[in-house]
Amino acid sequence: MGDILYIVVPCYKEEEVLPETAKRLKEKMDNLISEGKIAENSRIVFVNDGSTDSTWEIIKELHINDKVFSGINLSRNRGHQNALLAGLMTVIEYADVSISMDADLQDDIGAVDRMLDKYYEGFDIVYGVRSRRDTDTFFKKFSAEGFYKLMELLGAKIVFNHADYRLMSKRALQGLGEFREVNLFLRGIIPMIGYKSTTVEYERGERFAGESKYPLKKMITFAFEGITSLSIAPIRFIGTIGAILMLIGIIMLIAGVGLILSSVWFIGGIQLIAIRVIGEYLGKIYLETKARPRFIVDEFINEN
Ligand code: UDP
Ligand code: MG
Repeated sequence: MGDILYIVVPCYKEEEVLPETAKRLKEKMDNLISEGKIAENSRIVFVNDGSTDSTWEIIKELHINDKVFSGINLSRNRGHQNALLAGLMTVIEYADVSISMDADLQDDIGAVDRMLDKYYEGFDIVYGVRSRRDTDTFFKKFSAEGFYKLMELLGAKIVFNHADYRLMSKRALQGLGEFREVNLFLRGIIPMIGYKSTTVEYERGERFAGESKYPLKKMITFAFEGITSLSIAPIRFIGTIGAILMLIGIIMLIAGVGLILSSVWFIGGIQLIAIRVIGEYLGKIYLETKARPRFIVDEFINEN
């Protein structure tokens, strides 16, 4: 018999997709169990991230009708990353291995088998990596790929084209539990855990119902969060600009140019930007020192 697998799915207002997602995941679980790839007491855990629709009611009903479904209800909406972390940290003691994925099943669940194969080969972390983005709108594709490029440029190492579809062994989850940061950007900190890791390719499909919970505004916030929680490159960049401006100033002085008024405005602007960036990091220090809980579990329904 195989190891105990827990599939963790964060859900925010997913009443439209949940029944179908549950059905497909259940089928997948049954197949994996009958093939002997995973243990019979493996579970599908839906994490309700403070949805205002009937998501939690649907999860509770799924659980009552079939013990393969478990549910975690968060006390309020904390965002995708925190919801996912809540799920993973809650299942640590029950699972030998976990796989996280989105509720809309945009990530092809066919890759689960290959992820498990890699796990049994001895890998602790298996990243699901998108092989193509044909189904995304041009804008989404462009902004997402630009995001990875920008992150790399700014010194935040992340796995290219990997979202949060990944397998993690128990000890990898325990490793993740050691990270105490509040500004959570899982994709950035999971490579820091270490252990043997590999990737598995899959094709990303369309959301089959409901709409994306990541509009542009959230994506920009997410990118900003990713960069400022992983790297201090922006601070250094400000330093570079400062040095260049100083040099220009010196050259201008030597050349005898008198642009007093415009340079006052210009330097004033630069200073404001610099203060803004420093403020961003100060804000992070402030939040970290508070050591607020990253999530609070209201209820965990699980049959064991
Ligand atoms: N999600 C969440 N909390 C939020 C926003 C989203 O748990 O505040 C979940 C959502 O239910 C889904 C996953 O995060 O399972 C990814 O969201 P979505 O599919 O809307 O993002 P996209 O695929 O468009 O990037
Ligand atoms: Mg999606």
